[in-house]
Amino acid sequence: MISGDSLHLGVMQIVMTVDEFMVGVIAKNPHEPVFHQAVHEVVESVVPILDAHPALRNARIFQRFVEPERVIIFRVPWVDDHGQVQVNRGFRIEMNSAIGPYKGGLRFHPTVKLGILKFLAFEQTFKNALTTLPLGSGKGGSDFDPKGKSDMEVMRFCQSFMTELFRHIGDRTDVPAGDIGVGGREIGFLFGQYKRIANEFSGILTGKGLDWGGSLIRPEATGYGAVYFADEMLKTRGDSIRGKTCLVSGSGNVAQYTIENINRLGGRVVTLSDSDGFIYDKDGIGPDKVEWVKQLKNVQRGRIWEYAEHFGCDYYKGQRPWAVEGAQCAFPSASENEIDLQDAKRLTANGVYVVCEGANMPTVPDGAKHFTQVGILYGPGKAANAGGVATSGLEMSQNAGHATWTREEVDHQLLNIMVNIHRNCLETAEAYGCPGNYVNGANIAGFLKVARAMLDQGVV
Ligand code: NDP
Repeated sequence: MISGDSLHLGVMQIVMTVDEFMVGVIAKNPHEPVFHQAVHEVVESVVPILDAHPALRNARIFQRFVEPERVIIFRVPWVDDHGQVQVNRGFRIEMNSAIGPYKGGLRFHPTVKLGILKFLAFEQTFKNALTTLPLGSGKGGSDFDPKGKSDMEVMRFCQSFMTELFRHIGDRTDVPAGDIGVGGREIGFLFGQYKRIANEFSGILTGKGLDWGGSLIRPEATGYGAVYFADEMLKTRGDSIRGKTCLVSGSGNVAQYTIENINRLGGRVVTLSDSDGFIYDKDGIGPDKVEWVKQLKNVQRGRIWEYAEHFGCDYYKGQRPWAVEGAQCAFPSASENEIDLQDAKRLTANGVYVVCEGANMPTVPDGAKHFTQVGILYGPGKAANAGGVATSGLEMSQNAGHATWTREEVDHQLLNIMVNIHRNCLETAEAYGCPGNYVNGANIAGFLKVARAMLDQGVV
């Protein structure tokens, strides 16, 4: 339920409750429940601090936060391998440019619609601020489903998508990256079409190939960063990832490199999933098996049940991995709302005391409240998975300076950024009277940075 805290808005001293604020958001953005969910979580964190910051309250900063600066919706027609015309819808949400050019991924998935991308763009505002890099926020994508499509179909779709998107992006305006369904292959096709129609080679996308402007460690960054964040949380209790058994969901980019880094830091992962079900490998998914998964998912574009068949372990069709016993850490790395309240309770009842979100908003609000109430180490996505966009920021810096940094340099910078994000969340939570609450820490720290910039820049 929405709390009844007061939200004072405007020089006229309009007093508004969180309920009233949310009623306004819902009325203006109907049929967008995940956007409402994301906004509500942040409003709950930010309302209690607004009295201490009357200038932000009076400038109606939070009302501006929930209103995208610009929303672009466009038709994406393309021709499939049978010569049939297909029509998809493309989007780009340019959410907030107070601290830098719009930055955030593109998602290609049949569930994509305006509300999902607005939730992701809203989350991105806080996440990008936490990185300390000059990155505004955005998100985009299409209801196109790359699954089951040939490479040529994906290419024709990407070319059509970029034929419209190109006029809205630029290395100082808006720099998209990947997300669900958009990996190295898609970024390549999108970049090729941009270059062709804009007649310029510039860093308008991140996640590029290493031979043409990409950064080492960018593919690894979100997963690696989430594991660094979990390790930092554990250090506050004199502990580490070493020796921990971990549950991971998903089997795409974030999941693959989450497992890789858990292995590097001496932990062990026993689950992986996709939208059809999950595998449980009690022997652990070691480095050789991770390489096999990369081949399966990124090259052959197969399904996770094939892992169970190949390595002779258990497969649970239509289920998520959260009921598996014997783990201490969970890394949801697939999609939003993949941990419901029952899953959350089961995880903690089974002894999990670290939940670190590689995915965006993977835990439902009641589940997140449960984690906070029982006092486990709970790292929300907007802090824990910020390593991806942070390394995109490093890719932009390398592009701007025509430089290429080594793998070690970028990994070291990523680790430093995650350590700093962790410290910022912890110190902010402490300063605002909720020690150990990473949700409030991330929301308040991200909000304050962007809000101050908006205040400095006037009513724009
Ligand atoms: P990928 O497309 O590489 O992989 C997504 C994985 O999640 C696949 O295994 C997919 O299974 C599974 N999945 C997707 N939707 C669902 C669903 N509704 N139910 C169950 N499983 C599902 O995407 P990423 O790894 O890049 O992204 C995963 C999450 O991480 C997303 O929430 C994304 O927003 C977030 N994220 C990604 C970043 C990045 O740098 N890539 C940065 C920060 C956050 P299937 O193949 O069956 O669809």
